[in-house]
Amino acid sequence: MPDPLYRPATLAAQAMQELDPHTHGIIAPIHVATTFLRDPDNRYSTGFIYGRPDNQTVRGAEATLAMLEGAAAGALLFSSGMAAAVAVFATLDRGAHVLAPRVMYWALRNWLASEAEHLGLSVGFVEMDDTDAVARAIRPGQTKLVWVETPGNPLWTVTDIAAVATLAHAAGARLAVDSTCASPHHTRPLALGADLVMHAATKILNGHSDVVAGVLLGAAADGAWQRLVRYRSQHGAILGPFEAFLLQRGLRTFPLRAAAQSAAALHLAERLARHRAVVQVLYPGLPDHPGHAVARRQMRNGFGYMLSIRVAGGEGAAVATAASVQLWRRATSLGGVESLIEHRASIEGPGTPCPPDLLRLSVGIEDVDDLHDDLDRALCHAVP
Ligand SMILES: *Cc1c(COP(=O)(O)O)cnc(C)c1O
Repeated sequence: MPDPLYRPATLAAQAMQELDPHTHGIIAPIHVATTFLRDPDNRYSTGFIYGRPDNQTVRGAEATLAMLEGAAAGALLFSSGMAAAVAVFATLDRGAHVLAPRVMYWALRNWLASEAEHLGLSVGFVEMDDTDAVARAIRPGQTKLVWVETPGNPLWTVTDIAAVATLAHAAGARLAVDSTCASPHHTRPLALGADLVMHAATKILNGHSDVVAGVLLGAAADGAWQRLVRYRSQHGAILGPFEAFLLQRGLRTFPLRAAAQSAAALHLAERLARHRAVVQVLYPGLPDHPGHAVARRQMRNGFGYMLSIRVAGGEGAAVATAASVQLWRRATSLGGVESLIEHRASIEGPGTPCPPDLLRLSVGIEDVDDLHDDLDRALCHAVP
């Protein structure tokens, strides 16, 4: 675990890098070797044998991530957020019942609805932000995993992690939290009782829209954690060293970016809530958001970098708004330093729980007045 003398932002800034012993370069080299010399006595005294189970550059980024999340078991980096999430479900025993949110990251929801049954899992979808509904849906002895995403895509529903952890553990289930949109800057799910945290490190952790990566972080190095370690090694799902290097570089400015992006998101949420062409702003930092009270308790340093707006005039006006922004980038994904806007219903397709008039906004680090003015122009153009 990290040196308790220093706070996370300090440790992240230096990315806990050891000096290169040969050059004293202050940035660790990228380790690309796939195989390692065996000792004359036939041992592998460094612990490194082959590139699929483990890599030193990946370990560097994992150490920074484990420090930021306060994960005693450490971190496991995967080749994408989906690879990390699927590993959690794939390492459950056949016959397990799992609970997931009704509204959540769309690609994972699709996988759970269509593929999880082939692994012998049965999946229940529940309003995860309604603790009573979770209590009714959980099956003591049968439910082995509860999967939470908070704030949840794309309505930013807030789930009470501590309350759901208590319910899950009483039923003999483990609790995993997709904390991508909170990030460790705003929420520490392990400290609230979760067993496992997952992030799409593709998003704000890397922050520069140039790496696809996922990470799992564990509260304890127990049997389930060891199984995840074996799963990643056996399935060859480790992150590549170049991506790990870029991620480590991004992590050094993560606390700074997260603070700026959440401050800008709150500012935009408050201004857009008064805009004549906006019927609703969905952001946990606004007092009228249904999850605000829980968010105030469970989040810190603000409420995150994601918000959604519902445009007066419905789907056509929402699509027209996205079509006429000039500064915001019309693209999927989130968490980068550049701000993105997306009409979610058209990318999710039929069966989406996303309202058709909704635009999802990922707030970057541009000047917040420029972001506001561009969106204001587009909204006024789309809703005359
Ligand atoms: C992007 C994302 C994922 C999936 O991550 P990938 O790296 O794209 O596979 C999972 N959950 C959330 C909340 C995400 O935003």
